[in-house]
Amino acid sequence: MYIDLDKEEILKHISSRAFHLVSEAADELKVEAYVIGGYVRDIYLGRPSKDIDIVAVGSGIELATAVAKKLGKASRLSVFKNFGTAQVKSGDLEIEFVGARKESYQRDSRKPIVEDGTLEDDQNRRDFTINALALCLNKGRYGELADPFNGLQDMENLTICTPLDPDITFSDDPLRMMRAIRFASQLGFFINPDTFDAILRNKERIHIISKERIADELNKIILSPKPSVGFQLLDSSGLLSIIFPELSALKGVETKDGIGHKDNLAHTLMVLDRLSRHTCDLWLRWAALLHDIGKPATKRWDNRLGWTFHNHNFVGDKMISGIFRRMKLPMNEKMKYVRKLVNLHMRPINLVDEDVTDSAVRRLLFDAGDDIDDLMMLCEADITSKNPEKVRRYLNNFRLVREKLADIEEKDRVRNFQPPVSGEEIMETFGLPPSQPVGVIKEAIKNAILDGVIPNEYEEARRFMLEKAKTMGLKPF
Ligand code: ATP
Repeated sequence: MYIDLDKEEILKHISSRAFHLVSEAADELKVEAYVIGGYVRDIYLGRPSKDIDIVAVGSGIELATAVAKKLGKASRLSVFKNFGTAQVKSGDLEIEFVGARKESYQRDSRKPIVEDGTLEDDQNRRDFTINALALCLNKGRYGELADPFNGLQDMENLTICTPLDPDITFSDDPLRMMRAIRFASQLGFFINPDTFDAILRNKERIHIISKERIADELNKIILSPKPSVGFQLLDSSGLLSIIFPELSALKGVETKDGIGHKDNLAHTLMVLDRLSRHTCDLWLRWAALLHDIGKPATKRWDNRLGWTFHNHNFVGDKMISGIFRRMKLPMNEKMKYVRKLVNLHMRPINLVDEDVTDSAVRRLLFDAGDDIDDLMMLCEADITSKNPEKVRRYLNNFRLVREKLADIEEKDRVRNFQPPVSGEEIMETFGLPPSQPVGVIKEAIKNAILDGVIPNEYEEARRFMLEKAKTMGLKPF
């Protein structure tokens, strides 16, 4: 929320030693220096902000060098000559310096041709009016605001608006379209209608942006307080079907014989919002976003049952590595975690029946391991019925499932269970090389324990191993 600040309050935000050293150094070098961009925006939004961007009307590198000298030994200066930028670090403090610049773009690249410019040129190249605010740091004008595009007014109206013609701003650097939507979602702002129309016209230009940068913005949308805001904007701007066709395919309702299914995109976004009230974990939020991703591929009409999505959890699980690879998301244990939750998200509901066996509960505990609580959180967020009576009943069902899980875990400790007889021991006992029979015996021991045929103890497991091996014609070595 925008805060109307008086000069004194603004000065408080630029009162630290670092700002005063920038001020001194700028005056000595006889250059104008401003703090600009996100740091200034966040002062007015009352958001904490760490990264400080300084623009010098002159050489940013010279100013950074002088500031680093004043900060002394504890500071570290990094100069990026090719970009005309420099960074000073001191403790947790991180200050970026750049010389004021004028940028012009070519059609096929988001890398601009850069020349020295005035403060106003530099503000013109910023993406949004709220990101173009600058506070002067020179002594006579310390704390004076330069706001040529009425950024404060836009902040008050919660509006994202480009400083120049939005068609040019977005065509020059199409990443800004993602940033507009990300800021709207992150800050709870609206996109100015002319700015939004320009996104509609320029959406195809997103193709020149690297997958990594798009993923970065997508992750920030997912981490915003109400991620559906960002995804609805991505959808209505046409960007979603370009960058994330699988998610876009969830949209819409088909009707047959007067029976429709729910709109799976609307449902997914509701689940994501509901889950986001309880967790800021990016990958758990990704699991919510992808939990029904297999539905379009599995949708069938059954004359008896109506619309069905059989095995959508397994099909969804299988789609995820392709999606992560294309989007340049990590192909490591984060992806495995998302796959696992998507795969398992239909399981807890099957444990609701009163006569469910301990064995089914043990199997879920074993398959989910330490992710069982995250899985339950996802399943509870998946209840999006509008009927309060149904919601109450479903939530109560999950409460009972949680109790069953807790009881069995306390009794059998299968959550991080490792079969008490190892593959090594099986190989040694029967003089086997690593081979299929070893896996068969190991799996049989695991199943016997999970099914409650034998307790989770070494002696029993060893006895079971010997019996099982006998049925396979194997004798101890
Ligand atoms: P956040 O830290 O949440 O990403 P931010 O606004 O600080 O928000 P940065 O990416 O750190 O974002 O950028 C700092 C400033 O640089 C922005 O406030 C904006 O003025 C400018 N900027 C960043 N990216 C662009 C861009 N693609 N086009 C134009 N200006 C940009």
